[in-house]
Amino acid sequence: MSGPTIDRVRLFLIESPIKMARLQGVGNVKGTVKRVLLELTASDGLVGWGEAAPWEVFTGTAEGAFAAIDVYLRPLLLGKPVRRVRALMAELDRALVGHMEAKVAIETAMLDIVGKAAGLSVADLLGGRVRDTIPLSFSIADPDFAADLDRMRQMVPSGNRIYKVKTGVKPHKEDLAHLEAIRTEFGDTVDLRLDYNQALQPFGAMRILRDVDRFAPTFIEQPVPRNNLDAMASFAAALDTPILADESCFDSRDLMEIVRLQAADAISVKLMKAGGLFKAQGIMAIADTAGLPGYGGTLWEGGIGLAAGTHLIAATPGISLGCEFYMPHWVLTEDVLEEKVPNRDGHVVVPDGPGLGIKVSDHSVRANARILAER
Ligand SMILES: [Mg+2]
Repeated sequence: MSGPTIDRVRLFLIESPIKMARLQGVGNVKGTVKRVLLELTASDGLVGWGEAAPWEVFTGTAEGAFAAIDVYLRPLLLGKPVRRVRALMAELDRALVGHMEAKVAIETAMLDIVGKAAGLSVADLLGGRVRDTIPLSFSIADPDFAADLDRMRQMVPSGNRIYKVKTGVKPHKEDLAHLEAIRTEFGDTVDLRLDYNQALQPFGAMRILRDVDRFAPTFIEQPVPRNNLDAMASFAAALDTPILADESCFDSRDLMEIVRLQAADAISVKLMKAGGLFKAQGIMAIADTAGLPGYGGTLWEGGIGLAAGTHLIAATPGISLGCEFYMPHWVLTEDVLEEKVPNRDGHVVVPDGPGLGIKVSDHSVRANARILAER
C-alpha cells in the first residue's frame, strides 16, 4: 500500500521585514529577507508546510528556489505517494542538481503530512526525541554594538546565556574591545562563540585568532574561506579554542574531507546546506563517528524552516552545541505562523506533534508577509 498521494502544490515567494540590520561580513542584511513557503496537500486532505530560506551569498536565491519547485520539481511531486519520502527525495536529486533549499522545503512538507496522518511529530519520524529543549544562541551582529549590549542586558537575566559574536567585519581592534566589554560586564555567565564568516585570509590569521583565543570562546566558527581547509587544520591544531566549520561543511562529502584533514573540531549543520532532514542526520552520523559535535545553524529561516530544524535537533543526539533559531522572536517583525514556537529560559521548546507541531494558514501568511509571487 502506497497510501495517499500529493495532490496539490502551492508556492509563495515572500518578503518579511526585519527589526534590525545584520552585519555578517560575507553579506549584510537590512530591511527585509526573502523566503519561499510551500504547501502540499495530500489526497486524504492533509496539508503540510515547508520552507526554503536561501541566502544569496551562501547557498542560493529565493527566486531560484521558487523556480526550481514551480518549473522543475512540481511535475515530479504530483501523484507521488506522500509516505515515500526518501524515494521521492532521491528522484528529485537525480532530476535537479543543487537547489538544496527547495528540496528541504519539499521533504519538510511531506514529513509534516506523514506526521499528521500518524499522530507523530517530525522528531518521532526521525527517531524520537533525545531532548525537549534546545539552548538558544543569539548573534551579536548589529552594526551598532551598543544596541547589542543593551539587548544582552535584557536577555541575560531572562536566561539567554549563549551569544555568537560576528567578528572580522569591523577592524580587529574593535572586535577585541567588544569581546573585552562583554567579558567585563558578564564574565563567565555567558557562553561566548565567535563567527568570522570566512572573513580572514590564511596569511596572518593565526595571530588574530590567538588574540581572541584568550577570551575563551566555546568555538571559533569559519575563520577563513571555505576552501582553506589546511589553514583550518592548523588553527584546530594550534589553538585551545575549538574550530567550527560552517561554510566549509555543506554535505557529507565536505565533512569526509574535514575529517581526513582534521580541519575542524565541530560543524554547523544547516538544513539549507544539507538539503534535507535525513541528509542532515547522515552528516551527523559521520560527525558522531569522528567525534565532532554539531551546532544548529541558520540562514534567515522563519518559523516553518526553524520548526523543521528544531525537530531535527530534538532527534539528533550529536547536535549538542545548541541552535541559533532566534529569528522569529528577535528579528522578524512578524512570523508566518499563527503562534510562534515558544522560547523559554533561553531555550527553544520542541513543539509537540503531530507533524511540525505548528499552525500555518493562508491568513497567517498573508497577514504577516509581503507576497511577491504565488503559484
Ligand atoms: Mg556561520
